[in-house]
Amino acid sequence: MAITETSFLNPLHRLQEINPSATSLDELKDYVLEAKHVLSLLQDNLLLAQVNTNCEVVSVSPLLQSLLNTNHEHILGKQMDDLTPPIAKNHSKLTKKALQEGQSYQFESHIVTDKSDIHQEIWLDTLIMPLFDKHQTPKGGLVIYKDLTAQRIIERLSVVDELTGAYNRRHFNRVFQDEINLAKKNQNYLCFLMLDVDNFKKYNDTYGHPAGDEILKEISNTLQETFQRNNDFVFRLGGEEFAVLYSANTRDGAFDYAEKARIEQTNKAIEHTGNAPYQCVTFSAGLIALDPNEDYITEEVYKYVDEALYRAKHAGRNCIKVVNNDDAQLF
Ligand code: GH3
Ligand code: MG
Ligand code: MG
Repeated sequence: MAITETSFLNPLHRLQEINPSATSLDELKDYVLEAKHVLSLLQDNLLLAQVNTNCEVVSVSPLLQSLLNTNHEHILGKQMDDLTPPIAKNHSKLTKKALQEGQSYQFESHIVTDKSDIHQEIWLDTLIMPLFDKHQTPKGGLVIYKDLTAQRIIERLSVVDELTGAYNRRHFNRVFQDEINLAKKNQNYLCFLMLDVDNFKKYNDTYGHPAGDEILKEISNTLQETFQRNNDFVFRLGGEEFAVLYSANTRDGAFDYAEKARIEQTNKAIEHTGNAPYQCVTFSAGLIALDPNEDYITEEVYKYVDEALYRAKHAGRNCIKVVNNDDAQLF
């Protein structure tokens, strides 16, 4: 039966706002039951949450509860950011603004959980779609999460050296030019430190290869402890050779940082009888501080730093040699 203008008193008339093609109450009932079933399937199988316009959590799908290792009582009324913290801080304010204006918003969240004492990191693409009441007033948002964890782990594995946790050579090749450009923009010196463990073959011969591996981790730790700023990068270029990219305001500052790392390593006083006269694990290094007002060819820079490292080895090891200005003029 078709619905006419005059039949507005028929409840079917209002209900056809839900499903315009329905011609009977039974059909509408079937439609609503099917919709409920689809909704519960979505809730069981997708990472979903609902928030109000203040970003307070109103409901969370069972799958998301299990991923976060928590339950409804712990979550309801909490700020969405407490549940799934955005990677960048400014997202919180922007999410609220978008929801209050009835707009959608998207960002990436990063969560660290300790499920059954296992430290677990989760990355989530977080898409918030606005929800409206019957007067079309914004009432909050439906949050649809996509688990990016596997993707992020693969990305990390492709840039990180498995043994030491430092970045690998592939990543060095990728970021070197970018870092030169960034330092130019910021009018900083970009420093490139290349270092090599002293008499490492003898270390392996004396203490064994597995102990040698531990030393490589130690060197990486020393570098990571010294170079901790946002734009500092520590790399294992291969074997027992490492590199660091960092910025400095002056050439003296560039050298002081590198010296700090060298002294840190010496102060750890890890026994290495084959490394005379120091008797402990040390490294030698070559360093260049690139002038932001000059242009450089990365391959040339690499060659000069390698030569400076060679000079450090010949000067008795456990020291840092700097590519001098005369060399730098050659670029
Ligand atoms: P120098 O002070 O001149 O650098 O002497 P060296 O003995 O450190 O240099 P050499 O190039 O003769 O030997 C490097 C050694 O590093 C040989 C190699 O077995 C060792 N090596 C390279 N990669 C690894 C690694 O992943 N683990 C361990 N344990 N040893 C490694
Ligand atoms: Mg070497
Ligand atoms: Mg060596």
